[in-house]
Amino acid sequence: MTLKVYNVMSRTKEDFVPLTPGIVKMYACGITVSGDAHIGHAYQSVVFDVITRYFRYLGYDVKYVRNYTDVDDKIIANAAKTGENPIDFAEKYMKQTDAEMDGLGNAHPTIMARATQCMDDIINFVQKLIDNGHAYVSEFGDVYFKLDSFSQYGKLSHVQTDKNDTGVRKDVEPGKQNDLDFALWKSAKPGEIAWKSPWGMGRPGWHIECSAMNLKYLGEQIDIHGGGRDLIFPHHENEIAQTESLTGKTFAKYWIHCGLVKVNGQKMSKSLNNGILLKDVLAKYDADTIRFALLRNTYSADIDITDSLLPESLKHVYKMYSVLEAVKNMDFSGADKAKTDEKIHEIVLEFEKSMNDNFNTLEVIANAFGWFSFINAELAKKTTEYDLYAIANKIKELFKVLNILQKEPAEYVEQIRSSILQQNNLTVADIDKAIVARAQAKQDKDWATADQIRSDLLNKGVLLKDNPTGTSWDVNL
Ligand SMILES: [Zn+2]
Repeated sequence: MTLKVYNVMSRTKEDFVPLTPGIVKMYACGITVSGDAHIGHAYQSVVFDVITRYFRYLGYDVKYVRNYTDVDDKIIANAAKTGENPIDFAEKYMKQTDAEMDGLGNAHPTIMARATQCMDDIINFVQKLIDNGHAYVSEFGDVYFKLDSFSQYGKLSHVQTDKNDTGVRKDVEPGKQNDLDFALWKSAKPGEIAWKSPWGMGRPGWHIECSAMNLKYLGEQIDIHGGGRDLIFPHHENEIAQTESLTGKTFAKYWIHCGLVKVNGQKMSKSLNNGILLKDVLAKYDADTIRFALLRNTYSADIDITDSLLPESLKHVYKMYSVLEAVKNMDFSGADKAKTDEKIHEIVLEFEKSMNDNFNTLEVIANAFGWFSFINAELAKKTTEYDLYAIANKIKELFKVLNILQKEPAEYVEQIRSSILQQNNLTVADIDKAIVARAQAKQDKDWATADQIRSDLLNKGVLLKDNPTGTSWDVNL
């Protein structure tokens, strides 16, 4: 089976063939640290984390670079509001975002690049574009990319630049020769944070930092360039223009973009005030649940964060962990090895088929429901021919790629149970006491009291289950 990747450049699914056998060089545009990270940042970072993990699963050596934009107009403006130094302001949010990415269960990229740490590379890049006629310095000390010098402009986004409504107008950015030209270097206003350059004090434009960091860390050509779909134009189009004008070579072989985040069917926006901050989600839900919610989707599609998405996801993840825990304590020594191996083989094939189809995690999760139903159905029988522990363990191993189900099942189940009890001001002792009281009420044929005890607990998220050996309980998510 070959991995097929949807390439936004060709708008088709293509076989993945790396530039160098066995190696994947991937860059995904990271976050501008101008404030708290939101659920959209979480979505994009988890998608590229899973893509990286799947390449590693396939045996590739992956070099994955992400960046922080740690200087730009918005950072400067937001820092000014609080009176902070923009460098300290960016540093603060970078640290916070790093911790949140860890909290989400993302592996660290091979390199976390930062614009302010690549200033020499950025300046050199711009100078080379000036030298080869692709850029010019304005009378105000700004440097612009000369758009009509790059004939292939628009090949990724298919945006028609002759429509003339795509660039920042000349009267907004004086010194430009053409509305469509975009800034590579911006001269500093008095008092603004600035770096020394051949064109005076200033700071880089946003697009150039990604081209310069790519060149610095991954070289002239990369396998995959990724980001959110909103970056296709102009950001990625501009990156292509800059890099290919410098190298004369195709920049990225595959362009991968993930969809955007909606909240209850609406676009997440400042004006609707419906933004969901990552720190708020992490305060309420564990990483498994959040990843499950984000990955139960095809990455290229928009994702709708409905009010029920995370509670529903928690329910599914909890059930899966409960099954992993249940089979752990059972004896399958009499199982049929050949039958078990056959089932495991089938599961692995299904998993790889879905992932090879453009990283289809939605399908992986749909299949996993089937795998867990199979285990549950076998558990419900008096005897089973399968080693359900071995099967569950294989599912767990495959789910490493999604970084879900990797915790110790007993600990996860216990953690969720205690948080539900805590939210409802209940203790295990309270529940045990209620079970005894209910048994007594039943013995006294006081059915009304027995039912009342059961429904009181249910209202507090605890479900009593009567079985031949007595009454057990579980949280009712
Ligand atoms: Zn970028």
